[in-house]
Amino acid sequence: MSRTLIEVGALVQSAEQVWNEPSYVLCEGDRVIAAGPGQYTGDKRDLTVFKRPQSVAMPGLVNTHGHAAMTLLRGAGDDLPLQTWLTERVFPMEAKLTGDAIYWGTLLACWEMLRSGTTCYTDMYMSMHNAAQAVSDSGMRGVLSWGMVGLDETSATNGIANSRSFVKTWHKQADRRITVTLGPHAPYTCPPAYLREVADLSAELDVAIQIHLSETRAEVEESLRLYNKTPIAHAADCGLFERPLLAAHCVHVSADDIELMKAAGVHVAHNPQSNLKLASGIAPLVQMKQAGLTVGIGTDGAASNNNLDMFEEMRLAATLHKATSGDAAAIPARTAFAMATADGAAAVFQEPLAGTVTVGAPADITLLDMQSPHFLPTYDLISNIVYSAGADDVTDVFVAGKPVVVHREVQTLDTERIAYETKRIHSVLLSHS
Ligand SMILES: [Zn+2]
Repeated sequence: MSRTLIEVGALVQSAEQVWNEPSYVLCEGDRVIAAGPGQYTGDKRDLTVFKRPQSVAMPGLVNTHGHAAMTLLRGAGDDLPLQTWLTERVFPMEAKLTGDAIYWGTLLACWEMLRSGTTCYTDMYMSMHNAAQAVSDSGMRGVLSWGMVGLDETSATNGIANSRSFVKTWHKQADRRITVTLGPHAPYTCPPAYLREVADLSAELDVAIQIHLSETRAEVEESLRLYNKTPIAHAADCGLFERPLLAAHCVHVSADDIELMKAAGVHVAHNPQSNLKLASGIAPLVQMKQAGLTVGIGTDGAASNNNLDMFEEMRLAATLHKATSGDAAAIPARTAFAMATADGAAAVFQEPLAGTVTVGAPADITLLDMQSPHFLPTYDLISNIVYSAGADDVTDVFVAGKPVVVHREVQTLDTERIAYETKRIHSVLLSHS
């Protein structure tokens, strides 16, 4: 089994455990087997050593909501409200995306995420066998779902069939880096009977579910008109809350909604930048955290963000809610850091220690160069990481104990080829054929 020693100038094991002094992390196979301050003094035979005395090691970032191959639509329809953006820009272009395009678009996303320190991400899209192949090739960890829409008989049936085959082929594959979940798109694209069918399928296949819930005010109004219930109460009624569930957005949720989610243990993906850009609103994160919900942070797709930079997202989660609540103590740096790491990992159904650099945890580790001026001085390392650091500080990334980025170079990907293929697909998307 491969053994890797990472020697660093500082170590953030979790939001609670920080060593601002020379430290080390020892990995064996895909696990952290020792970590802490000082020097590793054990057996150094057969060790691959990474010496980074000017770097801090931290848990890899976890992106809890997105649509990876939408990188191909980055900038294709900005400054439009959600429904117009979807129907006039996104859907017509998506209709042209082949499986091959999904593969390259997902690799483009993996490249961007790895270079910005993300080790695990969440995806809901189409042609997911191609997307999973990209995750497998990139060395990343992925929580993937084949988007399901039940507006007509054909798409409903295909959605179930695609999800079945996707779970069968990819769940716990790629050295267990891939977790497959079911992905009903939203209550407004999945009628009640279909949501019930998805809940039953989730129980049958023993996998979790992810869905968009309460993203816009219009969605809530329509749900109240059709079902006399909020989207949260409606989703609960359709059986989704009886299954492990990740709800993306939850922007327009009431106190009753939050109580319902808490009682059922529903996880939330908070996507502040996408919600701002599409003018969806600002989620009541403070209230959701106070209620004790498990909340992670997500970028959403690159078409509504427009990047996949979790440092930006973490900082926005930490600052936005201070302004809206009038309380500078709301969502402190440590809370935002935990949401982007351990809480995010829990939100996307990873094992208990995931998102930390502690003994027994999966070895998903990001190193940041601390020599940049914005890291000086250091009163509080987590404060510097949340409020000052950025994607450009990422130098090395390890996923499942393997060095995937070394000295800012992605080891697993042919980035020139990805850039070439992206430009090629871009020209196809622009053509009117
Ligand atoms: Zn989304």
